[in-house]
Amino acid sequence: MLIQRATLLDGTVTDVRLGPRINEVGGNLVARPGENVLDAAGGTVLPGLHDHHVHVRSAASALASVSVGPPEVRTKDQLAQALSNAIPGSDGWIRAVGYHESVAGDLDRRALDVLLPGIPLRVQHRSGALWILNSAALGRVGMAGHPDGRLRSADRGWSDALGKRETDLAELNRRLTAVGVTGVTDATPDLEADDVIALHVAHQRGDFRPRLHFLSPGKKILHDDRLDLDALTDWIVDRHSADRPVAVHCVTAAQLVVTIAALRAAGSHPLDRIEHAAVVPDDALADLADLAVTVVTQPNFVAERGDQYLAEVPTAEHAQLWRVGSLLKANVQVALSTDMPFGRGDPWAAMRAAVRRATPSGAVLNAGERISAEEALTMFLGWSDQPSQLRAVEPGQPGDVCVLTQPPAAVLAELDAGMVAATVIGGEVAYAAG
Ligand SMILES: [Zn+2]
Repeated sequence: MLIQRATLLDGTVTDVRLGPRINEVGGNLVARPGENVLDAAGGTVLPGLHDHHVHVRSAASALASVSVGPPEVRTKDQLAQALSNAIPGSDGWIRAVGYHESVAGDLDRRALDVLLPGIPLRVQHRSGALWILNSAALGRVGMAGHPDGRLRSADRGWSDALGKRETDLAELNRRLTAVGVTGVTDATPDLEADDVIALHVAHQRGDFRPRLHFLSPGKKILHDDRLDLDALTDWIVDRHSADRPVAVHCVTAAQLVVTIAALRAAGSHPLDRIEHAAVVPDDALADLADLAVTVVTQPNFVAERGDQYLAEVPTAEHAQLWRVGSLLKANVQVALSTDMPFGRGDPWAAMRAAVRRATPSGAVLNAGERISAEEALTMFLGWSDQPSQLRAVEPGQPGDVCVLTQPPAAVLAELDAGMVAATVIGGEVAYAAG
């Protein structure tokens, strides 16, 4: 396809011809017969955004289900409201999760038929071991005659019919491409091979367009109460001896200190990563730079949970939270991500948080960690396996771009997902606004 009148981040106005890769960048490229032409009309064209740390399956499930337990839902009226507001998935089902009998007692098919007749509804109990189905849902799984619609996970027959449909990737695909995301890194530890294959198949089929990169099995979660330097070091040595990098999840200062010590002992691999780095003490900055490890962090949590941190974290530690600016100054390799669905999956909101450091109430957390809008934006433009190495709109690069409605100055001033006009993956339009 051909994108005309594109403004690159450096201000150059040009045309871009792309397929699986970017083929040509230059002024006045002439459309070929049958070529798909997109007029960017002076809007910015960027390499597509890559969200460097997400959980694809959890995100799809979270999007496709409505929460019907405390604290969101506490009464029968709230339950009725939540169910009537729920939007069915592409398969026509409404999935509700987190139910507890303190809300409206022990539900059965009759109770659900009153709350939501006609639309197939399954309510999962918060224990995860019990589902209650309404009559429409029971009919769908061939159990129209079931006495009360209360199904235990141990019961055979229906669970296959329901369980495999858990992940509806279509809506997640729509949301990601609508904000300019052309690739994601799934950071879920211990992903089953089946999950990885299912996601690759969804990508191949076109149900899930963004490119997929997986950290598992090279991802390790640490727990403060059983930090074991030797075991971590051995695991890293093992991975490195097979020329494989590691990604270590560090959400406390203790976890970061032990990880730094383990990387020092094991030696580092150029593609090693530290996930989150939620708490970085000053004396860790030089170590992180020294090890040339990439920190993949999530300043969006400042915008989402900042007031909680200000209230609950000792004041002396505030300066260590979700640092970005001081990592850059110390020459640490840094990239950003959202940790969707644990963080909201809007990279533009994460960029704004990195620039403004504003909490939900408007307070500021660590003004010294602010970075420029351009720095924040480019931290979503790295390669999946080298998050701090930038892609560019240049011949030979992947044919993945994000087209915005405004020129760069306006894009950087607002950092707003609403400016995404089109998202192109492998030379094909995966999303077009309007
Ligand atoms: Zn995560």
